Amino acid sequence: MAGFTVAIVGRPNVGKSTLFNRLLEQRKAIVDDVSGVTRDRQYGVADWNGKSFNVIDTGGFVSRSEDVFEREIRKQVKIAMEEANLLLFMCDVATGITDLDAEMADILRRSSKPVILVVNKVDNATRQLEATEFYSLGFEKVFFMSSMSGSGSGELLDEITGQIPEDDETREAIEAAEALPKIAIIGQPNVGKSSLLNALIGEERNIVSDIPGTTRDTIHTHYKMFQKDFVLIDTAGLRRKNKVQEDLEFYSVIRAIKAMDEADVCLLLLDATKGVTAQDLSIFSLAGRKGKGLVVLVNKWDLIEDKSTNSARDYEKDLKGRLAPFSDVPVIFTSVVEKQRIFKAIEEALRVYDNRKRKVQTSKLNEVMLKAIESFHPPVVRGIPIKIKYVTQLPTFTPAFAFFCNLPDDVKQPYRNYLENQLRSNFDFEGVPLKLFFRKK
Ligand code: GDP
Ligand code: GDP
Repeated sequence: MAGFTVAIVGRPNVGKSTLFNRLLEQRKAIVDDVSGVTRDRQYGVADWNGKSFNVIDTGGFVSRSEDVFEREIRKQVKIAMEEANLLLFMCDVATGITDLDAEMADILRRSSKPVILVVNKVDNATRQLEATEFYSLGFEKVFFMSSMSGSGSGELLDEITGQIPEDDETREAIEAAEALPKIAIIGQPNVGKSSLLNALIGEERNIVSDIPGTTRDTIHTHYKMFQKDFVLIDTAGLRRKNKVQEDLEFYSVIRAIKAMDEADVCLLLLDATKGVTAQDLSIFSLAGRKGKGLVVLVNKWDLIEDKSTNSARDYEKDLKGRLAPFSDVPVIFTSVVEKQRIFKAIEEALRVYDNRKRKVQTSKLNEVMLKAIESFHPPVVRGIPIKIKYVTQLPTFTPAFAFFCNLPDDVKQPYRNYLENQLRSNFDFEGVPLKLFFRKK
């Protein structure tokens, strides 16, 4: 299921972010080789038993100061109940049940979403005994764990992944193959997302129909432009938006993730008058890890005084430096108010969509890549040369390549980067994240 979301709620200092980091670590150890992940993330993707899910640390969104406390906590719980599929309610055995715990429990018991009570800091046998008092909060599912040491996390992950509905993979693959390109408009509040959408919708003749999104938080609109059919995904509330809510960073992030999960290609809008923010970069890297195509729009370009060629070129160069290692992405300078290059943006998104579907013939792939490997060998490890014998593109939905070699574990990042760059310079994968796997011949 695309975009199963788990939110961790609880009062400050119970250990939410410790658990959050632990859940994401599981993934890091297995597949995460994308750099640029910041320390103070509030959301991420966790993997367990071949299933993945989004995790939100709601604690990252509320102030830690004691006086704003209650109101903030209520907001946190409310948001989590609205946005998540499953809630982890975390308490701390060291403090026992506090008034605030009891109050949150009251709200959460009335939630229509499933809630798992996680009693944390159960580090030893004494605490295990003490932890039983938490049964009195009245939740059916109770887990005892130590986020710090990780004990109990396997059982919790089993329970979480057990609640994620099974994918019907073949059906999904067929549907996906037949489906229209899906393009999501994402970005922080006030970058111009709704203006862009309105400018596109303004061209009424392009609209074929409105189709409901897979969640109530997104709207899918079927368009026809340049003789091509595609679906634009926007986050609900863009058109008739509730400014107060949409301006909450939390909403913008969660909605962006939902739209992203449903899309093939994301149009990530940045505000030319503001620098690229950490939040922009982490949304960008998340889209990359989810294998989504990307086009970056530097919007409000009309507000930039000096629009000489250099200024755009310099901006793009600097931006790509910050997007590295995944910098093979189209960057378009748009002005939605002046309708500058907004159709170009859609054209690029459709091009990236085609790139993402590209399947390179095995013979061609080997011809090109073995030559590239020949002209720049992988390093020798422990006196043994690494030999890559054969390359093939995997039959996956997003481009992935398997390199068969004698010492797969010894092909390190710099050489992986070299191979990825060779793939990119020989075959057009602009805007598309690539996965490279190394396997024993
Ligand atoms: P948050 O405010 O709910 O996100 O809590 P944090 O994750 O920041 O943790 C608060 C404090 O509790 C930190 O000092 C953690 O090191 C500590 N902590 C978190 N998990 C455990 C645990 O399982 N056992 C113990 N003893 N301490 C923990
Ligand atoms: P959203 O929150 O991302 O949906 O952003 P909006 O579409 O509501 O735009 C926020 C503000 O930026 C509005 O006042 C828009 O008129 C303005 N805006 C959007 N695009 C542009 C642009 O290309 N140039 C300029 N100058 N203003 C823009």
